[in-house]
Amino acid sequence: MNGLQKEQITLLRAGSKSYAIIANTLGLSINTVKSYCRRNNLGGNATIMSEPMDGKFCFQCGMLLKQTSGKKQKRFCSDKCRIAWWNAHPEEVNHKTVRAFTCQTCGQNFETYGKRERKYCSRTCYGKSKAVRHE
Ligand SMILES: [Zn+2]
Ligand SMILES: [Zn+2]
Repeated sequence: MNGLQKEQITLLRAGSKSYAIIANTLGLSINTVKSYCRRNNLGGNATIMSEPMDGKFCFQCGMLLKQTSGKKQKRFCSDKCRIAWWNAHPEEVNHKTVRAFTCQTCGQNFETYGKRERKYCSRTCYGKSKAVRHE
């Protein structure tokens, strides 16, 4: 744990964030956060609530973000952090690649993830296409 993370924990606890949220935000284990809070009297009177990630801290460096109302919630403090985060999570990038195809057997539109070409929506349709071809 570095100095910045310690500062963040103090700040997050002041904002009544749960250990789980803090651990998640800073990329630490819950036990690390808990024992740090206990040692520094940050555990006591703060209301512990479970809440979803609200995107108020940069996903990459944990810096507090200034949200502009009305706009889409920012997740990163800067382009540098955004690129670094995406580079560290390539599997998340792949999940964004949704491609639409039309099944050659039943004509239904279907969507699939990844880069692979698909001609049929299901194994059943794939099987049928073979059956037709052999007749
Ligand atoms: Zn950042
Ligand atoms: Zn089909």
